[in-house]
Amino acid sequence: MKAIVWQGTNKVGVETVPDPTLLLPTDAIVKITSTAICGSDLHLLDGFIPSMEKGDILGHEFMGEVVEVGRDVKKLKVGDRVIVPFNIACGACDPCKRGFFSACDNSNPNHRMAEAMYGAVSGGGLFGYSHMYGGYAGGQAQYVRVPFADVGPFKIESDLKDEQVLFLTDIFPTGYQAAMNCDIVPGRDVVAVFGAGPVGQFSARSAQMLGAAHVIVIDRVPERLAMAQAAGCQVINYEQEDVLIALREATGGRGPDHVIDAVGMEAHGHGPGSALDKMQQSLRLSFDRITALRWAILSCAKGGTVSMPGVYGGLIDKLPMGAAFAKGLVFRMGQTHTHKYLPDLLGRIEGGQIDPTFVITHRASLDQAPELYKTFRDKHDGCVKVVLNPWA
Ligand code: NAD
Ligand code: ZN
Repeated sequence: MKAIVWQGTNKVGVETVPDPTLLLPTDAIVKITSTAICGSDLHLLDGFIPSMEKGDILGHEFMGEVVEVGRDVKKLKVGDRVIVPFNIACGACDPCKRGFFSACDNSNPNHRMAEAMYGAVSGGGLFGYSHMYGGYAGGQAQYVRVPFADVGPFKIESDLKDEQVLFLTDIFPTGYQAAMNCDIVPGRDVVAVFGAGPVGQFSARSAQMLGAAHVIVIDRVPERLAMAQAAGCQVINYEQEDVLIALREATGGRGPDHVIDAVGMEAHGHGPGSALDKMQQSLRLSFDRITALRWAILSCAKGGTVSMPGVYGGLIDKLPMGAAFAKGLVFRMGQTHTHKYLPDLLGRIEGGQIDPTFVITHRASLDQAPELYKTFRDKHDGCVKVVLNPWA
């Protein structure tokens, strides 16, 4: 089959690789009908997430049709149309039972790999996201093996198009969890979202759905800001305004009640902190460039939440922890517990409350994907979200 393969830092390519096969009786094989490129894939492309190996198949946002099931799979049958959460979860361990699916104890055989780097284990397995996260082949391919097939895949039985439900596998629940983590008081709270990429867009719309009185989105890419503005958000271009002053002015001096960092470890910025991050990251002295997180902490109102869907990779330097402590901020973060939010969000799509297709700017084949990885990374050509058809 054809697949998008990591070939080294800043190199992805299309290769012909062996078709996946069932390895365990609880596996299914899914023929992929639609898949997408995620901002998280850019951290792999740029080489900032450790433990990638040449030849690893990328992709963790995908859906398709079940073509084979293991003998212990009860809920799925050949022919079912499914969306598949990007995290792999067993459904039976203590974290899964408590709804913390991305912290599954049983889906990541390599969870100790991270211990040497962080001193702590990493979370559950992820499709197409490094050996530290289980070394599973991803879904930017024609077929994929799906472990724990009775737990992850979610059947789509309505006639919604692929593009309307595809993002339920990652970026929509991710934005939603980011907003849920803020415990928004409807009609009162102001939420600021750093980053107007796909995750920021869904964070902003989720904050609106959850009743935020006002949502402010910060980025520097005009078409991404325009997309947020079209949804009724106030926008701030951090290259044209001092973002900390602008946020204070927009909130009567108190700062946003909650701030979502939908940027993560490859933030851009200016000032000495940003220059230091860049230098440390390029020398591999640090994993993360944290301008957005710094701004989130500095701008957030007292007693507020800093919610972090943006991915961070390792040890962080020059974090204004004193400011966070003084203001009594709450930090919430992590990989999304996708399984938990899927049914509710599917209902919202079916009910017409939101149409996730608004974010799509590019549609392409697998052959065009390596080029589009760069277009998406460099924010060229108005690119916000790329959807791939593996059979085009
Ligand atoms: P993206 O790269 O398309 O978007 C990031 C945006 O942040 C860009 O528009 C960029 O211009 C903007 N930005 C950079 N520095 C900034 C700054 N200092 N202030 C404000 N904006 C800034 O990526 P995406 O797909 O939207 O993903 C965003 C983050 O969410 C990534 O870190 C990704 O890995 C992460 N993510 C996490 C999960 C999860 O489970 N927690 C799931 C999906 C994605
Ligand atoms: Zn993702």
